[in-house]
Amino acid sequence: MKNNFPNSVAEINLAAASRNLSSIKEKAASEKVLAVVKCNAYSHGAVHLTKHIEKEVDLLAVANVDEGIELRMGGITKPILVFGVPTYETAAVYLTHNLTATISHTTHFSILMDGTSYHLNFDTGMGRLGFLPEQAGEVRQLAVANQRLICSGIYSHYATADDPGSDFVITQNDRFKQILSHFSEVPLIHMSNTGAASNYDRIDHFGMIRTGLGMLGYNSGETRHKWLQPVMTWRTNLAQIRAINKGMAVSYSSTWRSPEDGFLGTLPVGYGDGIPRSLSNKLKVLINGNLYSQVGNVTMDMMMVYLGSEKLSAGADVTMLGSEGWNAHDWADHAGTNVHEILTNLTNRVDNRYVMK
Ligand SMILES: *Cc1c(COP(=O)(O)O)cnc(C)c1O
Repeated sequence: MKNNFPNSVAEINLAAASRNLSSIKEKAASEKVLAVVKCNAYSHGAVHLTKHIEKEVDLLAVANVDEGIELRMGGITKPILVFGVPTYETAAVYLTHNLTATISHTTHFSILMDGTSYHLNFDTGMGRLGFLPEQAGEVRQLAVANQRLICSGIYSHYATADDPGSDFVITQNDRFKQILSHFSEVPLIHMSNTGAASNYDRIDHFGMIRTGLGMLGYNSGETRHKWLQPVMTWRTNLAQIRAINKGMAVSYSSTWRSPEDGFLGTLPVGYGDGIPRSLSNKLKVLINGNLYSQVGNVTMDMMMVYLGSEKLSAGADVTMLGSEGWNAHDWADHAGTNVHEILTNLTNRVDNRYVMK
């Protein structure tokens, strides 16, 4: 559905995305960077964001061919790697739209069509997709036997890089180096996501990092980095101000009662816009420079904030997420999830506006 009169707007600061890209490259001392723009660039708008950062990155990545098609239709020309699994149904799409496939199983060598470019994916400990280290020799032979396909890269993925100090990151890095000894002539090698790039100085980043969240201004785990700047500021307005009496209950299941006579603000956003219902009675929003508590259960389309004795005006600006308000780390901490999920949960009811600041 088209947002003619959106109830809330996510301001996307493209200049911040550029700054984050160069900061994270510098931090990892990496020459190249792959921008991960899957899931509509974590709700930041894949085509818009990618158009802006395209010249600053070496490669792009998406989760599936449809996301790749969307970028190509939007005029993006940089190489696009698809992380997901190629099938007979999608094999032709890789070729037609010039998408780079991921080969993570021996069957993929015969599924892909002549001339398709691919990266090999090895499982060094993530346990999701990819060849096992002991298959390296066999995979090399398959690659050599399938000259009709173009091997343009090889990668792996960390399971525990979100926060610093994981020995398993070192183990995976070592396993990958072993695998690489079989593939001396592969042009692109990559393994580090945002967590590995920003939290681990001493591991080999192989000349190219992959970043989604870091580009958008967040680290992936508990550790927050000041040198990253959140790209999104989500704002709405007070839809209505209501007088409330002491003891009055608010929202479904009456989980909150007003401690005093005062005022209540109703906001036109709810879990249908991507606010976790688990943040009910926990979330704080910023209005006129002050944080106010969200009260009662978050509903699908609306939620309430307690204003105490302050009768703010209807229409007042409310910062939901980012800027001086709570950021996605704060949301994730209180909702018991990660920043990725907070951002991808935002729905297209939220209207993205692009700025350069
Ligand atoms: C999603 C994904 C990334 C990006 O992770 P961030 O934490 O956002 O940097 C990198 N590599 C793979 C394989 C992914 O699936």
